[in-house]
Amino acid sequence: MSFKELGLAEPLLQAIADVGYDTPTPIQKQAIPAVLLGGDLLAGAQTGTGKTAGFVLPMLHRLMAKPAVKDARGKSPIRALILTPTRELAAQVEESVRVYGKHAKLTSMVMFGGVGMQPQVDRLKRGVDILVATPGRLLDHHQQGTLDIGKIEIFVLDEADRMLDMGFIHDIKKVLAIVPKAKQSLLFSATFSDEIKTLADRLLNSPQVIEVARRNTTAETIAQKLHPVDRDKKKELLAHLIKRQDWHQVLVFCRMKHGANRLTDYLNDQGVTAMAIHGNKSQSARTKALADFKAGDLQVLVATDIAARGIDIDMLPHVVNFELPNVPEDYVHRIGRTGRAGAQGEAISLVCVDEFGFLRDIEKLIKRSIPREVVPGYEPDPGAVAQPIQIGRQTLNGGLRSGAGRSGGGARPGGGGGGRGGDRGARPAGAGGGRPRSGGGGGGGRGRSR
Ligand code: AMP
Repeated sequence: MSFKELGLAEPLLQAIADVGYDTPTPIQKQAIPAVLLGGDLLAGAQTGTGKTAGFVLPMLHRLMAKPAVKDARGKSPIRALILTPTRELAAQVEESVRVYGKHAKLTSMVMFGGVGMQPQVDRLKRGVDILVATPGRLLDHHQQGTLDIGKIEIFVLDEADRMLDMGFIHDIKKVLAIVPKAKQSLLFSATFSDEIKTLADRLLNSPQVIEVARRNTTAETIAQKLHPVDRDKKKELLAHLIKRQDWHQVLVFCRMKHGANRLTDYLNDQGVTAMAIHGNKSQSARTKALADFKAGDLQVLVATDIAARGIDIDMLPHVVNFELPNVPEDYVHRIGRTGRAGAQGEAISLVCVDEFGFLRDIEKLIKRSIPREVVPGYEPDPGAVAQPIQIGRQTLNGGLRSGAGRSGGGARPGGGGGGRGGDRGARPAGAGGGRPRSGGGGGGGRGRSR
């Protein structure tokens, strides 16, 4: 099936030809006709599936097909709103709007926090057809009276699961209260939790439901591997791997911001160019790091999960989990940054005894065992004992009782035995009382670093 057969207008087909896409991806084959029909849509798709073009192309088609209704002063209102969880994703989606809308006479704007309000106010005054925004700044503008989204025709909630994870539910509800009732609504989410279903019930009217296979079940192009290593040897091993194999464009994941900073400093000391990208960095620092990385001027980008969400870098050759995520789904999101569009990618995890519980949850989720490979010179100590992992104010026991070969040791005897994911709600072995999620022990929390 071709893009032409999907019924898209000529200026859009021209833009698609300009970027060099031949065939629509599975999500595009389903989403484009559904959105063109004008109804609501609930779509299950992750980053990397081509979902952005899946909603942007038919949205542009529909807006082009119907002229804007101007107000008494001749100004046309904002006609489409796309909400995203992060600034990076907002910027990338708006870039896609411009790329796919290159030959369409529609204007777009990206709006997020961390930068001045006034340039955004000035831009709004000039008139915008399509607004891509993060919820916080959008509501700031609305409260200030500098934004009117009361006439939008199409509303998209992108990466809705991540928005809820990041605590945006109240902001989303506030936005829903200020957009018109009669509109076309599209909800994209990688997962369908009960919370997402509740949100979908509230937002969508008899939606068409489509879902494409999760990347973790389909991404054969991603080679996954893990190197067991002691916790205090991880930095050295990473620098060794990067230098020995002359890696470039390596995206490295850390759980926490300060860990990302420390690792970045270490790598730079070792002569490996690295920059960190996380929520404490200014927008300009993040944009520069990403641009340098994309241009190949920066060898390593060290990121936290939230900061990396939605980063779209084509054919990223290497993703390294310097630390395994405590949320198993984040592993899938992380490795989804590589092996895009048929290109070969490699995802490597450096795993110490503290993380065997996280690893077990990840392997359960992806339904496969990740091949182990000990790097000579970095053999882990067989007698090593799991220590609890501190994430913000939470203490997670990521180790496994049996993983260390013996129990005991560390601040939390017994290593806890996981307690996340499928085990949530179970009393962790040897945790000495206290329910998971309370009192810091047991690892029930899904603490995140922003
Ligand atoms: P997304 O899932 O929207 O983040 O898109 C992932 C990547 O796939 C982006 O780099 C797009 O440029 C690319 N892409 C989207 N649609 C196609 C297509 N039909 N053919 C090839 N690449 C595509």
